[in-house]
Amino acid sequence: MQYERKNIQQMAGYVPGEQPTDAHTIKLNTNENPYPPPAAVMAALGEVQPEDLRRYPSPAAAGFRDAAARCHGVSSEQIVTTNGGDELIRLALTTFVEPGQPVGIADPSYSLYLTAAAIHGSPVVKAKLTDHWQLPTDFAQQMNAAGVALTLVVNPHAPSGQLLKKDTIAALADALDGVLMVDEAYVDFADPSHNLVPLIKQHNNLLILRTLSKGYSLAGLRLGYGIGPTNLITPIATKTRDSFSVDAIADRVGATALAHRESFSAGWAMVRENREKLVGELRKRGFTVPDSQTNFCLARVPNQATQSAHTLYLALKEAGILVRYFDTPALNNCLRITIGTAEQNARLLAAIDAASHE
Ligand SMILES: *Cc1c(COP(=O)(O)O)cnc(C)c1O
Repeated sequence: MQYERKNIQQMAGYVPGEQPTDAHTIKLNTNENPYPPPAAVMAALGEVQPEDLRRYPSPAAAGFRDAAARCHGVSSEQIVTTNGGDELIRLALTTFVEPGQPVGIADPSYSLYLTAAAIHGSPVVKAKLTDHWQLPTDFAQQMNAAGVALTLVVNPHAPSGQLLKKDTIAALADALDGVLMVDEAYVDFADPSHNLVPLIKQHNNLLILRTLSKGYSLAGLRLGYGIGPTNLITPIATKTRDSFSVDAIADRVGATALAHRESFSAGWAMVRENREKLVGELRKRGFTVPDSQTNFCLARVPNQATQSAHTLYLALKEAGILVRYFDTPALNNCLRITIGTAEQNARLLAAIDAASHE
């Protein structure tokens, strides 16, 4: 006897990238930051007291919420703290989409959107990206025509790394009938002049997702947040959120991380530099790689007749280097490669060269 709801029976679960536990694998498959969090953040972890654990945490993770508000120059009421950015994706569905009402995405994008929609019981309207990973010009019209209540756009885009400019996002928010959630999981690695936060003043349907998993080297902590106008934030922060979804440790450590934003920026600059080098080297070897504003790049393999993306993925794995292979038609000749340290990237290139000479 199956007790699951029909949509749960029918769906497949989200499949995260592999997480090997050995120390020697070079992990370039899940877009973690290659540099560890700075000493100030580890010191904050050391300051956690037994009382912090005995008692329930601040329901709204007030310490972090205030730190995020200061960091972005908004009020605390324009911030909601979540258990990873992923929780905010689920909460946006819960809060803004009637079950059965469609959600909209660009295709391809973050595959968790499909999982979250399936759990919610919402069909997904997919607008195919152009050959250069751009939104189709009639993207908003496609969403509106289908009655989409929530459109999810990852920017910079995953898996291509392309960045939509502020004006494009503003125009999209204007054109959409429903809520626009811009998933900025990778924004810390983008051009530092890019900033969408001021747009929340003019667009009452714009919700921005942030996470400490990528830029802040804290994927293990599970901390994310939303930035938006209060008409979007308040219902999430006061009604649909789990009462204590962010624990006392994440609240404290995350607040310290944002307060020490400056000490992360050298790492972000290093990732950008390593990224430009790696992309250049991959292009020299014949890979097609779109410009990236993230900590990964999407490399289409050359000479697919002699070596497919899948065989290269396996050869790299054999050499102890994990990259991400997606078994989907739009991406099956590509590998998504996280930007590692300079040394990791050099080893990746050496392994690619070795694999293509076999
Ligand atoms: C990593 C990621 C997130 C959020 O991840 P969390 O670890 O849950 O904070 C959201 N969107 C995209 C596209 C991501 O890659």
